[in-house]
Amino acid sequence: MGATAEHDVEQLRARLNEYMSKHGLRSTEQRRLVTEMFFSSSDHLSIEDLLERVRLEEPRIGYATVYRTLKLLKDCGLAFERHFGDGVSRYEVAWADEHHDHLICLECEKIVEFEDEAIEDLQHKVASRLGFKLVRHKLELYGVCGDCQAKS
Ligand SMILES: [Zn+2]
Ligand SMILES: [Zn+2]
Repeated sequence: MGATAEHDVEQLRARLNEYMSKHGLRSTEQRRLVTEMFFSSSDHLSIEDLLERVRLEEPRIGYATVYRTLKLLKDCGLAFERHFGDGVSRYEVAWADEHHDHLICLECEKIVEFEDEAIEDLQHKVASRLGFKLVRHKLELYGVCGDCQAKS
């Protein structure tokens, strides 16, 4: 899941450009690099994770640039900020055509993505039973992964 090849990065760039021109923001070389590195990722990255990757190409990039770029991407709906209970903000690309939920291992902090149609349906049913039209949701399941169970 999350394999970049199946997704339309061009569409993300177009949405970002539109947002930036609408808000009078100008792109910089560093911001472009951070953005492209993020769009090519398929996992859940902390600011430090992404900083480490962009520094392999451009060692002069600082934490603040990565932080501000991720905030911009979040503001224009191209990144999801996730909190999985360890106090670290993680970011993943918000592909327009994809939704998934998360299973998080409490031992090794591994994050597994899943989507289950029955659960999705059920959430809509619960919401409408209570008079809501569902707009979005996030579902996080916490447990111990198979590898960690095998270790103990
Ligand atoms: Zn684990
Ligand atoms: Zn995810």
